[in-house]
Amino acid sequence: MLDSGTIERFEKISTPFYYYDMDLLRRTVDTVAELSARHNLRVHYAVKANADSRILGYISSKGFGADCVSGNEVLHAYECGFPADKIVYAGVGKSDKEIHDAMKLGIEAFNCESLQEIFVINEMAREYDMVANVSVRINPDIDAHTHKYVTTGLYENKFGISQHEFDKLIELLDKSRNINFIGLHFHIGSQITRVAEVFALECERVNEIVSYFEQNGLKVKNINLGGGLGVDYDDPDGNPIPDFETWFSTIDRKIARRPDQAVHVEPGRSMVAQCGTLISRVVFVKSGETKNFLILDAGMNDLIRPALYGAYHRIENLSAQMRPFFGSHQAYDIVGPVCESSDVWGAGRLLPLSVRGDLMAIRSTGAYGQVMASRYNMKDLAPAVFSDRLDDAPRNNDYFKII
Ligand SMILES: *Cc1c(COP(=O)(O)O)cnc(C)c1O
Repeated sequence: MLDSGTIERFEKISTPFYYYDMDLLRRTVDTVAELSARHNLRVHYAVKANADSRILGYISSKGFGADCVSGNEVLHAYECGFPADKIVYAGVGKSDKEIHDAMKLGIEAFNCESLQEIFVINEMAREYDMVANVSVRINPDIDAHTHKYVTTGLYENKFGISQHEFDKLIELLDKSRNINFIGLHFHIGSQITRVAEVFALECERVNEIVSYFEQNGLKVKNINLGGGLGVDYDDPDGNPIPDFETWFSTIDRKIARRPDQAVHVEPGRSMVAQCGTLISRVVFVKSGETKNFLILDAGMNDLIRPALYGAYHRIENLSAQMRPFFGSHQAYDIVGPVCESSDVWGAGRLLPLSVRGDLMAIRSTGAYGQVMASRYNMKDLAPAVFSDRLDDAPRNNDYFKII
């Protein structure tokens, strides 16, 4: 919830911008630190959710590792304070250069997603006379009960190695001299809301798969269960900190581990989504044939989730909160300026009477927001503005004077 003092200061800042509530970030990260210690889990933050340097700096300062999915993420995580031996690197299509750079940095592990990748990493390690730590990502064929674009653990998905290749995989690992096999990796999807049910199922399946590998002579030292904890997009003020306790305690209860086995998790969205808000202004109000449109200066180039997978974000009129409330709520189709019909923030949203220049908050945008921004239509990239450095933000240029 944004207080009136903050909203007043927003008036002076040029829009659109990503606002990060650093106090909420700290409280969330500290909660994860405390609960993961209690349940004996190691945490690697999934950098792709939000790669801002200050955010990464805070997370790395708490002793977490990083889960990366590209060579640039590996290098950036390292520059932002994550020690190389706490960086793991997943992804189905690592290029030779990306593998080379990560190997030279001495990362904790490559999370390999195909037999050919393991072969290539072994060959490259041999060339450099090194031994690379490898964890193998398994596709456990589990339905995460989430949106089909963010489901990753079904056989129809491109991620991980499936059961039909297990025997070939074991054979390959056995003969790969420049690879040190350290464990198994899983990540079944994102924005999982049936937390206890889905993660209990994942653990049961993981227990079976770990046993299979161990029975076949491979020592599984690390069991990495990936990320996926969902956040409350409907009620960000009611649930600012996601339910890490249910997630971690389900894993703690259900995973079969020996004292010499470490269990890892990789939260992304759940650590950063609620601390971010995309702040925008109403550029024009337009009465259509059947609807009223609010046209904002933020669009799908700033935040692609609604256009890409129909994601819901709560939208609030901040300026209206500062005025005496008169009249009733109105239904608006809230849209962006980009020349695509999918550039819609929300249809039929009820808001107080809204006018040109009003500040609008698009909530829960700290994850998969700024990192996915593009310059489509040659728009400028929306900058990050931090709650503890509001005075550093770019000044408003008084463009909304003509009402
Ligand atoms: C994206 C990703 C995550 C993080 O997922 P969230 O749903 O954001 O928690 C974790 N692990 C891997 C391998 C990923 O690709």
